[in-house]
Amino acid sequence: MPSENGAVNEGRAGSRIADIVVPVALDKAYSYAVPAGAALAEGDVVVVPLGPRETVGVVWALREGAGANLKSVLGRVDVPPMGEDLRRLIDWIAWYTLAPLGLAMRLALRIPGEDRAEQVRVGVRLAGEPPERLTAARLRVIAAAEGGLVYTKGDLAERAGVSLAVINGLVDTGTLEAVALPPEPVAGLPDPEHAPAALSPDQERAAAVLRAAVAERSFSVTLVEGVTGSGKTEVYFEAVAEALRQGRQALILMPEIALTAQFLGRFAARFGTAPAEWHSGISSRRRERLHRAVASGEVKVVAGARSALFLPFSDLGLVVVDEEHEQAYKQEEGALYHARDMAIVRARIDKAPVVLASATPSVETRVNAARGRYRHLVLPERFGGRTLPTMRAIDMRKKAPERGRWLSPPLLAAMRETRAAGEQSLLFLNRRGYAPLTLCRSCGHRFQCPNCSAWLVEHRFRRALVCHHCGHVERRPDNCPECGTVDALAACGPGVERLAEEVVEHFPDARVITLSSDFPGGIERLRRELEAIAAGEADIIIGTQLVAKGHNFPQLTLVGVVDADVGLASGDPRASERTFQLLQQVTGRAGRGDRPGRALLQTYQPDHPVMRALLSGDAAAFYAEEEAVREAAGLPPFGRLAAIIVSAPDRGEAEAHARALARSAEAPEGIDVLGPAEAPLALIRGRYRFRLLVRAARDSDLQGYLRAWIARTPKPPQRIRVTVDVDPMSF
Ligand code: ADP
Ligand code: ZN
Repeated sequence: MPSENGAVNEGRAGSRIADIVVPVALDKAYSYAVPAGAALAEGDVVVVPLGPRETVGVVWALREGAGANLKSVLGRVDVPPMGEDLRRLIDWIAWYTLAPLGLAMRLALRIPGEDRAEQVRVGVRLAGEPPERLTAARLRVIAAAEGGLVYTKGDLAERAGVSLAVINGLVDTGTLEAVALPPEPVAGLPDPEHAPAALSPDQERAAAVLRAAVAERSFSVTLVEGVTGSGKTEVYFEAVAEALRQGRQALILMPEIALTAQFLGRFAARFGTAPAEWHSGISSRRRERLHRAVASGEVKVVAGARSALFLPFSDLGLVVVDEEHEQAYKQEEGALYHARDMAIVRARIDKAPVVLASATPSVETRVNAARGRYRHLVLPERFGGRTLPTMRAIDMRKKAPERGRWLSPPLLAAMRETRAAGEQSLLFLNRRGYAPLTLCRSCGHRFQCPNCSAWLVEHRFRRALVCHHCGHVERRPDNCPECGTVDALAACGPGVERLAEEVVEHFPDARVITLSSDFPGGIERLRRELEAIAAGEADIIIGTQLVAKGHNFPQLTLVGVVDADVGLASGDPRASERTFQLLQQVTGRAGRGDRPGRALLQTYQPDHPVMRALLSGDAAAFYAEEEAVREAAGLPPFGRLAAIIVSAPDRGEAEAHARALARSAEAPEGIDVLGPAEAPLALIRGRYRFRLLVRAARDSDLQGYLRAWIARTPKPPQRIRVTVDVDPMSF
């Protein structure tokens, strides 16, 4: 239980009632009596009784009333209150996503952990008489501490060139006295004039528009669409600088913040200090300090993942959403919100401008820009006269290597040339592990996850078969468990581990780095390896999508896409858009330094619209085609969409409830309910899944309809779960 700082319960019922939202899956606020004389305000975090236990909650509203029959608020928790803007954002998320209000509120609730006590930092300074035994080391300490300044023990030891034991000895003799130091600042103060970049004319035009948007202090959305390497970051830094000049705060949302050490370095080069980082890798103690410092206005710039959206900024003057098209912005558990969209909602509430940056914007954002809802700035060229990589397809129907090999002769030839020139190659394959499927050559048995409708992926590194959906792990047997044949199991298809083997066969002397998010060593190892690559300490890089995003590798001149068709097979209407974005990003890693780059795409479908768009560089034509398809089908952003997933351990029960929902759909004019059908992954973690899709006209009240529908369908037993996903990422 968190500590209760202001005890508000004085035993007498007051004349006010507090409506309090508690962080559980309940859709309303609960009323409590406010004890007489208690200083409570809306947004305060409080402790209240809930059934047999106590819980924290947030005061959503205060009103007059006796509340004689109500339980009383027990105490106030000493954390920054949840401001009105955040409470309105939470209300909006709960309304929009249909998540229970209590679950949505939990997104913004930060309560102190066990280790919340701020550790007092102790310093030392010269105090009393020198001790009797004056060794040379002790003399050096006394000399170093001359002048009466306060030093930390470590600093003083270093200045004097002695061990900590010497310092402690002098504290014991009373020569040095311990004094409390003020807490270290939680983040540096970014200086907008530290080192402004000399912008190109294109960049300067875009920056001027963004500065003006920030200076207006009103809500607006601007899309900065710039090819890879055009300097979008430098441009939105100018918007951040403007917010800083006005003394206001800025939030930069990034999809994979934990891997963006390079970004932090660039920010520090521009502003003299790194921004405050906010993501799940930050310790809870530091997060608590940051939370307070953001509320007090001490922290000016936060660069963070999705959840940074819920920080209590006191004066938010700018929100940047970098790589706005990224799927990682969609929260796939709890309240299913899209952080880009909710960033726009928050900025509207806070009357702040939003900058969306991407080389490959989402279709939604492009359409919003085309319709004039967003400003649209375009950076058509790379910075510094650099050119975009040349793109070429390798038609695998004609050029495929022998069976069990994945690198075609033209790609190998290009890798040899690149290596001979002392430059780096990157092989991109969006498949973790060794092989995506293992089968028995004798009986055809395939290894499937017992909990999911998915094949087990072989990870040779871990000597295991792994499910990428639920984490199920089993040992890879020597013999087929089905027919018993010895040594008959075969790996089918490539993963990055297998590709690495093939690369080493062809290039035994090359320095090869394979990057995959599941390798041991975690974020720290990835950061180190990314740095090594940037420093030129690798010849060939093999990686999954985590190498595709945002990195700057100056010596990288060749990108080989090993299987450009991987993402197209899914049957999902968004598959084309996603493949286009991913391949544009990854090929955009080539030629960012002094030497021009090229990209080779191994594909069996060189005439697919995605490949044609990539090869011709005609993104506009690709988007136009995608938009036409979506418009004709009434899909987002031309229509609205929600998915309803019904899941249960028993397949029949899941299907029966999905059918019951369909029968009670009563869809009005402008709304269609499609299905139920088996969800794309029909079984995950032991739960069978059926899906209904709700397609609605843009101006229909989708949320109102969904609420009423679910309310009138008889509530199923607990083992049947109904999840509503508004704006699903796949459909
Ligand atoms: P994008 O995000 O559009 O891919 P970046 O902002 O990463 O582009 O810029 C690409 C590279 O060009 C980076 O190394 C960046 O430092 C450099 N760059 C871009 N604009 C400038 C500028 N005005 N002055 C100096 N370097 C720049
Ligand atoms: Zn599984």
